[in-house]
Amino acid sequence: MERLDNVIQRYAWGSHTAIPMLLGQAPDGGPQAELWLGAHPSAPSKVRSGGTLEALIAHSPERLLGTASTRQFGPRLPFLLKVLAAGQPLSLQAHPSLMQAKAGFAREEAAGLSRSAPNRNYRDANHKPEIICALTDFQALCGFRAAEASVQLLKGLGLDTTLLESQDLRAYFQHVMSLPKEAQGGLVDQLVDAARSPVKGFEGECALALRLSALYPRDIGIVGALLLNLVTLKPGEALYLDAGNLHAYLEGTGVELMANSDNVLRGGLTPKHVDVPELLSVLDFAEGPAKVLRPSGEGEAVYSTPAPDFRLSRVEVKGPQVTLPARGAQLLLVVEGEVTTQGVALKRGDSVFIGADEGDVPLSGRGLVFRATAGIS
Ligand SMILES: [Zn+2]
Repeated sequence: MERLDNVIQRYAWGSHTAIPMLLGQAPDGGPQAELWLGAHPSAPSKVRSGGTLEALIAHSPERLLGTASTRQFGPRLPFLLKVLAAGQPLSLQAHPSLMQAKAGFAREEAAGLSRSAPNRNYRDANHKPEIICALTDFQALCGFRAAEASVQLLKGLGLDTTLLESQDLRAYFQHVMSLPKEAQGGLVDQLVDAARSPVKGFEGECALALRLSALYPRDIGIVGALLLNLVTLKPGEALYLDAGNLHAYLEGTGVELMANSDNVLRGGLTPKHVDVPELLSVLDFAEGPAKVLRPSGEGEAVYSTPAPDFRLSRVEVKGPQVTLPARGAQLLLVVEGEVTTQGVALKRGDSVFIGADEGDVPLSGRGLVFRATAGIS
């Protein structure tokens, strides 16, 4: 077992207080958006025994990750765990499937595009399914709502919905995303003006349009945002974002677990690169309400997802010892209380890496722990 010191990412949208509070530190006046727990090459956790978790795993992958994991995912940790603390909305985005990522990465490599180029879409050849689990009330946009409901909202805001009614979401989305910049700005201005008198039944969506427009004036992503399900997760509830799901995290603190990838295709609400044709090629236009996940199981409650790369569970320790069965390499993060494992006391904000060779993990004390392992065992 290795205690971890994790990297804080100071993106501008980050909350100034949530991560310092979790870590028991004083806020330092700047944003602290994400805490990265894992072995990602761009920001690996440090291990207390010296060096990084990335180097530790690279030194003995078979022993620390287990045979099944190394066989399927290679000699590296297949997942990345984060605490995400959004003070402001993140960009509207989707992630590619494994096949799309492999093809896209190969294409951009062949074109000689630098991996750090701002217009690079595929920074690696991996997919990036992700799960976000709320630690506080957590607001997000996730997947397209039923088109009829979107027609009602957009009509209420005075927008022309002919294309959405006569064809489908894809045709409408493609149309607005491909309009000239000036026309997009005009459309957004019109919509935001109208949203000052909220459409009945869509008060939250109209308030969101105003909030987004204050941050990203005339950004066409605001129209995209109004086509999506607006969801507020309660602590313990989660969303699974599979390939092609258009989403944006808006506000709140959560634990996020994802495949080890950086592949993001953006659709607006960002000053960063937006590649509309590429985004359209990966988007899933399936309609319907967002599926809110709740964990199941006594002791260790698991969030069930189809992702082979990761598995997230939530463990409430209430006095008597809880034993977590061995599941290959794992990360534990304590978010409440204090728990003890292998004689080491871990308080709120503490985290550890446990290698595949260490067997079952006993936990005692009182607290709430998140556990990240690979999806395969
Ligand atoms: Zn995402």
